[in-house]
Amino acid sequence: MHLTGNLLIGQNAVTGSREALRAIDPATHQALEPAYAGGTGEHVAQACALAWAAFDDYRETTLEQRARFLETIAEQIEALGDALIDRAVAETGLPKARIQGERSRTCTQLRTFARVIRSGEWLDVRVDNALPERQPLPRPDLRQRQVALGPVAVFGASNFPLAFSVAGGDTASALAAGCPVVVKAHSAHPGTSELVGHAVARAVKHCGLPEGVFSLLYGAGREVGIALVSDPRIKAVGFTGSRSGGIALCQAAQARSEPIPVYAEMSSINPVFLFEAALQARGEALAQGFVASLIQGAGQFCTNPGLVIARQGQALQRFIQAASEQLRQADAQTMLAPGIFAAYEAGVGALAANANAQHAASGKPHTGPNQCQAQLFITQASALLADPALQAEVFGAASLVVACDDDEQMRQVAEHLEGQLTATLHLDDADIGRARALLPTLERKAGRILVNGWPTGVEVCDAMVHGGPFPATSDARSTSVGTAAILRFLRPVCYQGMPDALLPPALKHDNPLQLRRLLDGRRES
Ligand code: NAP
Repeated sequence: MHLTGNLLIGQNAVTGSREALRAIDPATHQALEPAYAGGTGEHVAQACALAWAAFDDYRETTLEQRARFLETIAEQIEALGDALIDRAVAETGLPKARIQGERSRTCTQLRTFARVIRSGEWLDVRVDNALPERQPLPRPDLRQRQVALGPVAVFGASNFPLAFSVAGGDTASALAAGCPVVVKAHSAHPGTSELVGHAVARAVKHCGLPEGVFSLLYGAGREVGIALVSDPRIKAVGFTGSRSGGIALCQAAQARSEPIPVYAEMSSINPVFLFEAALQARGEALAQGFVASLIQGAGQFCTNPGLVIARQGQALQRFIQAASEQLRQADAQTMLAPGIFAAYEAGVGALAANANAQHAASGKPHTGPNQCQAQLFITQASALLADPALQAEVFGAASLVVACDDDEQMRQVAEHLEGQLTATLHLDDADIGRARALLPTLERKAGRILVNGWPTGVEVCDAMVHGGPFPATSDARSTSVGTAAILRFLRPVCYQGMPDALLPPALKHDNPLQLRRLLDGRRES
């Protein structure tokens, strides 16, 4: 497909009129064609008006229609072939195999949500039949189902140009819930966004859905993004990016006359706790696993292990030595965008300048522009407890080892941490008691607790939680990865005393959708 640089408002390609942006190939630092002129407040209003007009029809499509729509999006993305892969590689500097894997994850994610839609479990139907003879008062017939919240604004993430961008997890879960979606493309990969945007628009057309189900806008976050979040027809927001960006969107959403939920996934340093017996028994293997996780994808994962916490002593020294040796072998890797590279350099510079952080090792130096040289630092627990700067996220392949005096200080460090997407424990049988003592703290701090694994590599499945207390996310009650992500875009409605003729199919007395309902307090089999 020929790239046009146009916005996509419903089925219409529209030329923006604000300052144009071009993607930069981070591997060469060259600008890529075409130019993407930014949208205006008027374009945002047009996309939101179409989304609102589509909402009531789209949310009442049958389960089969909506599932087929998501499957058709996956088919249309696959049909883009190598053009999509090549453009995404050029815009992100990510290796071809990674982008191919991400396309597969994106399409699997869409098909997984199709499976979720068909099952109807997300409707969470509850029926309390009328009890006309009940004393002292009769009970009316009460029925509950989940309905879609309304049009959703999605902000594409820089670090997942496919799986968390135009047709990524936020879009898939919002569409699955019955919400039209207006995407604000990430400025680092507009061409990838345009290709995928047209694939979604084609799926809308193939499936005979109202055109406002999907629109795609380009432009500056401070203009297009804030206008989108402020539009009264938008009822929820999905975002992955920086803490400052997420907070700005939360503030805009709260400042509306009708505040709306913002599901922002922002900042996490993903602490890894190494317990004594495990560290003694297999410190070198742990060092190998740690460095592999740290440098994967130049460390540009939200679940990158940015903090390693252990008791000081010879076993920790051996771990640091082995990790340093591994790290020195690591090639520098191209980062996603010049801005992200600059932020990484600033973060590493701040750690290097911190008198309480001792530099342990660096990866191989740059051989090209925008390349991340991996870095490892060491600090004492007492310093981390005193200095919040040592907890700042450095997005990229940099990590800090925290040496603790004893188990109690490890617990104090855990207690002192901000909210996290993940917390990881490496333990052997002899460590179980220490780990158990830490669990209540970690449950309060993190969305996912892993044992003897590494936090990178997030599975898309029913049990996944990719969320956590602030600043990991803006709403600790939710996950942005996995099938439970659909719950963010639903709300319950109760129908009281409503005749069968008026009830939606999910709630009719003869249960035509054959849903497993909670019927008079019992789950149907
Ligand atoms: P970002 O700067 O937060 O940008 C993400 C999106 O939000 C972009 O579309 C951006 O618009 C928009 N935006 C940013 N600030 C805004 C504001 N004040 N008002 C309205 N919209 C705003 O994130 P990024 O470009 O992906 O990466 C920058 C940094 O974010 C990284 O260096 C890293 O520290 C962090 N990050 C963290 C994660 C994570 O998962 N933890 C993932 C990615 C990035 P524009 O088009 O105007 O830029």
